[in-house]
Amino acid sequence: MATAYGVSGLFLLLSLCLICNGQNTNYIIGAGIADITGPAAEVDMMGYANPAQTSKGIHLRQYSRAFIIADSANKSRIVFVSTDSCMQSQGLKLEIIKRLKSKYGDLYNERNVAISGTHTHSGPGGFHQYLLYDITSLGFVNETFVPLLEGIVASIDKAHNSMKPGNLYVNTGELLESNINRSPTAYLNNPAEERAKYKYNVEKNMTVLRMTDAQNNGIGMINWFAVHCTSMNNTNHLISSDNKGLAAQMFEADMNKGAFPGKGKFVAAFAQSNEGDVSPNTKGPHCMDTGKPCDVPTSTCNGRNELCVSPGPGKDMYDSTRIIAKNQYQKAKILYNDPSNMKLEGPVDFRHTYVDMSNVMVQINQTTKVKTCKPAMGFSFAAGTTDGPGAFNFTQGDTTDNPFWDFVRDFLKKPSPEQLACQHPKPILLDTGEMTVPYAWSPSIVDLQIFRIGQLAIISVPAEFSTMSGRRTRDSITATLKAAGFPANTVTVIAGLTNDYADYVTTYEEYQIQRYEGASTIYGPHTLEAFIQEFNKLADALAKGTPAPKGPTPPNLLDKQLTFLPPVVFDHAPFGKSFGDVVVDADAQYKQGSSVKVTFIGANPRNNVKLEGTFLSVEMLQPDNNWKVVFTDSQWETKFEWKHTSLLLGESEVTITWDIPQTQAPGTYRIQYFGDAKSLDQKISSFTGKSTDFKVMTPKEYIKHKHGMPKSVNRILKKNWQSLYKNKYRKSMSIVNKKH
Ligand code: ZN
Repeated sequence: MATAYGVSGLFLLLSLCLICNGQNTNYIIGAGIADITGPAAEVDMMGYANPAQTSKGIHLRQYSRAFIIADSANKSRIVFVSTDSCMQSQGLKLEIIKRLKSKYGDLYNERNVAISGTHTHSGPGGFHQYLLYDITSLGFVNETFVPLLEGIVASIDKAHNSMKPGNLYVNTGELLESNINRSPTAYLNNPAEERAKYKYNVEKNMTVLRMTDAQNNGIGMINWFAVHCTSMNNTNHLISSDNKGLAAQMFEADMNKGAFPGKGKFVAAFAQSNEGDVSPNTKGPHCMDTGKPCDVPTSTCNGRNELCVSPGPGKDMYDSTRIIAKNQYQKAKILYNDPSNMKLEGPVDFRHTYVDMSNVMVQINQTTKVKTCKPAMGFSFAAGTTDGPGAFNFTQGDTTDNPFWDFVRDFLKKPSPEQLACQHPKPILLDTGEMTVPYAWSPSIVDLQIFRIGQLAIISVPAEFSTMSGRRTRDSITATLKAAGFPANTVTVIAGLTNDYADYVTTYEEYQIQRYEGASTIYGPHTLEAFIQEFNKLADALAKGTPAPKGPTPPNLLDKQLTFLPPVVFDHAPFGKSFGDVVVDADAQYKQGSSVKVTFIGANPRNNVKLEGTFLSVEMLQPDNNWKVVFTDSQWETKFEWKHTSLLLGESEVTITWDIPQTQAPGTYRIQYFGDAKSLDQKISSFTGKSTDFKVMTPKEYIKHKHGMPKSVNRILKKNWQSLYKNKYRKSMSIVNKKH
């Protein structure tokens, strides 16, 4: 009896296990998405460092996309988060980990959580703890920081709560016509034999990680493709997740039929890779005045950088964003659905360490040891790039000093002779590593991290690695992993702009050219070698199953932050008007494919960022007389624009645009605006504005309605009227003639 009981018990356990673990699932997987959009007004956008580029509305909301992967025994797990933000900030990660620890104990910590930025240049700034990155946003901006913190944690919560058994697949393929090298002269300084190994001077490969449940239904997708999120240029004032964010919305719309952005179950992340010298503006650098190509080594037109800009493939920045997004989305979909993709099997593991990158000794060969430097920015940093030129008279490829800026720099901090020698040939503009007033300007201690999921290794780098820097890192780490026991079919990806931000990393050879990326390689000419050396130690520990050292503790500078961004003082509606009143209303009717624009008396959007909400809705009248929301503020087809009409009086207007799709169902529609106003006594109250109802028609119906009758009938009437008129005219003329 006992034996029979034991056998049937075992059978029951096995069958339960099959049910609980699905059929042949290797992992437990969760995915979650949450809104992280910050202040849609008056905050400088992070990326181009252009103080005039402040937020004035929303085109696409920013989201955090989180994925948790555990091994099938649920013993070890990793969290990978891709956020629609310019990069990750150390201060932010430290706070996220604090929140996670208070909720989950040590389940999620700095070692097994990676938070990556897509590098959109159209999100509000001010979320860094190091001073240099917050200069143009007038210091630290809590209104940006809080939605990022809450949204990222919310996305991880959702991923945690959705975990279920599933499988993972990896696939890699080539995507062309979507990126170019923006510093080709620096790339050309790499050894010829090294360059000969590659067909292109940028990475064309996209690597897709497909996540499915036990029944093979999609849970999520992450892909890594190297391209700057600078399709929206530095004239843009609307918050946008740029080409990667739009690609993600396209993929998610495909998988979550009928769901609004950020509200569906399937989560698709278009994560960043080694995009340091990679631009989406594929037409290449041209002079805006003459239309001719710029001077290549310096990216200038007649000696000045401001006019040298690289446009995207489209007719304007919106069109370019759409094209680069669509290219990435379509490629990701092909790779996702490809039946030949590789199924992952094997452990989930991770290694993490903190390294003081300003003080690493690097053994570059058997006899020579070199050292990294304290952080410093070169002159060409201020020249900007052809994606967004700097505003001063700096040019790229500059290795000579400018006396005026020498003076400004010395006023801040004169670099020590050791620092000048260490950073050579970089002419130092900002000696940020030696500037500590009022607090540190650049990071020294940064996160280095590698995840393993079966045959996939994710190398999280806290910077923007150039194409060749990424290739060297990946090759070296892959060799180390394989030498220590990883399978021969191991796939390695670089996750760029992850955990912290320490500017750019170029190769030693690219550094000599001092283009923008070389000038922004802050730890000196041997930065890359130092990163590769330290990553190799982690890779070795990961492959051998030995622990990695914790490293020095990074500072938390959040309680030291200064902010000079003025608060919203108050909002006021003009005399005789109320908030939400319509200033310019909708027409009575529109045809499919045209645009509706409605302007309202507005209030400052900073009063309420409406996390997980919307500033607008496009609504359609239903047969039961209820209104159904058909568009919100995160969709490509809508724009929410805010502007002050009187700064002194606190008066402002909001314009909502809806580009009606060609396929929009004909019917009755209206547009609503949801605002929040701050009174003189600092109370915030919400209000709504509503357009009049309007009709959307097919082009045929529209013409019929506009002219009352079809054109053919009109033509007949017109002919008859003309002949009638002519007869009458003749008659009256004859009367006149008779009179005289
Ligand atoms: Zn960049």
